[in-house]
Amino acid sequence: MHSKEAIIVISPIGELDVNGTLLDSLRGEVQRVYGYHTEVLPLLNEGDMRMDPVRKQYHSTPIIETLALLIPPRAIKVLGITKVDLFIPILTHVYGEAQLGGKACILSTHRFIDVFSPGSGTTAYRSRVAKEAIHELGHTFNLRHCRDPRCTMHYCRSVHEVDRKSNHFCRYCAILLDDEMKRLGMPV
Ligand SMILES: [Zn+2]
Ligand SMILES: [Zn+2]
Repeated sequence: MHSKEAIIVISPIGELDVNGTLLDSLRGEVQRVYGYHTEVLPLLNEGDMRMDPVRKQYHSTPIIETLALLIPPRAIKVLGITKVDLFIPILTHVYGEAQLGGKACILSTHRFIDVFSPGSGTTAYRSRVAKEAIHELGHTFNLRHCRDPRCTMHYCRSVHEVDRKSNHFCRYCAILLDDEMKRLGMPV
């Protein structure tokens, strides 16, 4: 359906909480869900993100705008991943942010760390990262929030809600994604 050459870039920004195996499992999940090959390609350094001096957090919107400018031509989407805490002005924090129907999104792993074994890269941690990565990429494929609490596109306000949802789309979101994939695959 889509060009075989196109890839999804997974772009770690600075050091992550756990080693490369997190990115390996994430690549597998992204490929399973979206069908594109992935490439790990750092496009930004941690120092390229500006910390808000009052909130001690990082505003996600300028970061995804920069990622969208840096995305290589062979890539259809870019997912930034960082361990710093992200926010948008109207919210205390966000797990991530995406350009709806655009090219770039970002995910923070900050709130997914298992408080009982920080930095251990537990199964629960990896699972949360994968679900929310698929969620943010879903927005770049034009998917919106879904009311089904089991669907990956469900908007979660807590880690508990993330744990409760699945790493799959509901039937409704799967159809919308399929339509978007067909649209992207059409010759221009
Ligand atoms: Zn969302
Ligand atoms: Zn859904």
